Amino acid sequence: MWMPLLRKKAWAWVPVLIGWPACAWAAGGFGASDLLAILLLLLLALGGGWLVGRRAALRSNQLLPAAMDSDQRLMWALWGSGDNFWIWEVADDLLSWASARPMLGYGAHSSIKGADWRAQMVHRADRARLEAAIKAHLDGSADQYEVTYRLRDAQGRWNWVRARGRVVARDEAGRPTLVAGTFRPIEAERASDSERRIAAEVIRHMLEGVSVTDLDFHFVSANPAFLRLTGYEAEELSGKSASLLDSPQHPPSFYEEVRQRLHAHGSWSGEMWQRRRSGDDFLAWLQIAEVRSPEGARSHYVAVLADVTDRKRAEQRLRYLAHFDPLTSLPNRAFLRQRLRTRIDTGGSRRFALMFMDLDRFKHVNDSLGHAAGDELLRQAAKRLAHVVGESENVARIGGDEFTVIATGDTSNEGVERLAGEILDAFAGPLLVAGQEIAISPSIGIAYYPDHGRNLDELLRHADAAMYEAKARGRNTYRVYSVRMAEDAGERTRLEAALRKALDRDELRLVYQPKLSLRSGRITGAEALLRWRSAELGHVPPARFIPVAEDTGLILQLGEWALRQALSQARAWADAGLPELRIAVNVSAVQLTRGGFAELVKLVLDSHGLKPSWLEIELTESALMADPKRSGRTIAELRELGVRVAIDDFGTGYSSLSYLRGLAIDTVKIDKSFVDGIEHSVDDEVLTSTIVLMAHSLGLSVVAEGVETEGQLTFLRGENCDEVQGYWLARALDADKLRAFVGSYRMPAGLVLPGAR
Ligand code: C2E
Ligand code: CA
Ligand code: CA
Repeated sequence: MWMPLLRKKAWAWVPVLIGWPACAWAAGGFGASDLLAILLLLLLALGGGWLVGRRAALRSNQLLPAAMDSDQRLMWALWGSGDNFWIWEVADDLLSWASARPMLGYGAHSSIKGADWRAQMVHRADRARLEAAIKAHLDGSADQYEVTYRLRDAQGRWNWVRARGRVVARDEAGRPTLVAGTFRPIEAERASDSERRIAAEVIRHMLEGVSVTDLDFHFVSANPAFLRLTGYEAEELSGKSASLLDSPQHPPSFYEEVRQRLHAHGSWSGEMWQRRRSGDDFLAWLQIAEVRSPEGARSHYVAVLADVTDRKRAEQRLRYLAHFDPLTSLPNRAFLRQRLRTRIDTGGSRRFALMFMDLDRFKHVNDSLGHAAGDELLRQAAKRLAHVVGESENVARIGGDEFTVIATGDTSNEGVERLAGEILDAFAGPLLVAGQEIAISPSIGIAYYPDHGRNLDELLRHADAAMYEAKARGRNTYRVYSVRMAEDAGERTRLEAALRKALDRDELRLVYQPKLSLRSGRITGAEALLRWRSAELGHVPPARFIPVAEDTGLILQLGEWALRQALSQARAWADAGLPELRIAVNVSAVQLTRGGFAELVKLVLDSHGLKPSWLEIELTESALMADPKRSGRTIAELRELGVRVAIDDFGTGYSSLSYLRGLAIDTVKIDKSFVDGIEHSVDDEVLTSTIVLMAHSLGLSVVAEGVETEGQLTFLRGENCDEVQGYWLARALDADKLRAFVGSYRMPAGLVLPGAR
């Protein structure tokens, strides 16, 4: 046998065998005898036939030197492979090995019983597999075996190795006597293998699409996500140009540029529209990078692609939300700010106007009709406004019912005010909301750049102050900012704060303005009017504080207080023996549509033991139109009670007499503005007489308010007007004074209508 030879360390002829360089190398690494063993094993590993042929010569040590030249290169090559070599003498079950480097800490060569080897050094889990593989080979069912298993190293750690073996000698009966083979640690290989496998798995399961193309951008491979995103089958893509996915959303030059950039720089990333197999386009975020071969030459491109269409949409939506009001689709405050800034930056000191528009009593509509209807109303108002202004980008909704308009066309005073007038006109007709017509009027404040402000905040503040002024002027109108208004705006805040305390501080009182019947010449009633003397602000006229009270909701408490106060006064007058006086109480839209108003009225009347006919409720047209359905219902309830209902300020709003016919009202109060025109304006006179005529034809009585002169009175009497109210008769008086006035009043002779009692 030649195995003992190996063990004898026959190193003497090694230099002859492999030449000087190997000795030099060996001196630095390990002993020459080891080398010899390696070389022999290398030879063994070359293959059974060759080995068997050489065995006798090996054993006799005769032939090796002669074979030296021809085998030398081959040996080197084998040695260079880095494998370890082993032989297994089957009969003795003796396993011997040799290795180029001390293998797994075991030294360069050693031998052990094969069974011990398997028991001690092979991982339990791999043992059966190893033995089965060996057995299969020995049985002749496999002409070679190859097993990977874990081998314990000298430190007791497990290492993956791959062993290959084959029978190299048999006895006369054909039984294997010698098996030889190689093995090598494959830890690193396995690691990179598993890395590769993990990488492949990751790519397989990535949500991002991954594709590999050759340098001409023809697909080589793609992961499932890529196929899913593009809708193609792997076979359909294979070999096809990536331009298959080009979308017409980009000009073809775009894709060409990307490809050129890749050629030039090896990488590209960015957003790119891609077309799916279905023809749909999707926006992809793409990262394309070159792949280089081990030699460093560019070989492929790998593209990682994510569908960002939704993200993009979300981004756009966000951007939209950041700049547009989702309810009306109008630009919002942020957008307005931007526009104003660019306007100011690019326009220099070129003049323009900022209009601030607020919908009168919107809060109230919103509260009474519900938010859905409120939203709808805002949408329609926005549409109407944008329609008038034309360029919708100049219109913005900056909150609640507040809109702004940048007037950039004709920015002369006349031009801007004309536009404001057109906006008011546009709102003259009611809006159809949830199946009902709702009249809503805007109040508009105007501030000019640069005269009234040089930035958005200043302009807004001033346009806002002007808007409040417009509201104070009876609404449905516009006002241009003036310095005085800035003070007013501050005053408004103070006013609101003071008003909240007014009731508690007992700062309110009612005064009563009598009404005279032109038929009987008697005082028939009195209108209760609020007066407020504020500790901080002094006397504040109702025209100033009523709108604030309505906007803030304070009118509910104020109104209820006025109702209770007026009726308690009526009780006191009756108790004092005054003839029956009908007390008129002004009621705002907010109270009317709140719900429960008629019940409140009944409660208060009952608590004072007053007949309902002693009370008249004055409602303005706009109060009615704010929510016609609900107002109509409340009016019906009041009439049911026996309370009278008058329409105040008639002629200033939108309602027509035919509309009033549908409402159960009793009286029409002709607005003071028409009465003012009597003796001056034929139009006003015609209107006045028409109102009287038509009201009568509807069975309504007519009161003319604001009658200041005898001339007006004479005209009204001539037109058959029923009652008058105004300074000509009396101002609003304190309760005591009214009592005295009623007691002593005598209609001037000659003014009483013929037939009057
Ligand atoms: P209104 O209901 O139209 O009241 C008539 C207003 O015209 C009163 O002003 C009255 O003093 C004034 N007036 C009467 N006759 C003449 C006249 O011959 N010439 C002139 N120049 N003015 C005359 P006042 O008291 O300042 O009230 C203004 C408005 O405030 C009222 O208009 C009414 O809309 C509101 N208001 C007053 N009190 C109440 C209240 O208790 N509740 C509600 N909701 N509104 C009220
Ligand atoms: Ca009134
Ligand atoms: Ca009035």
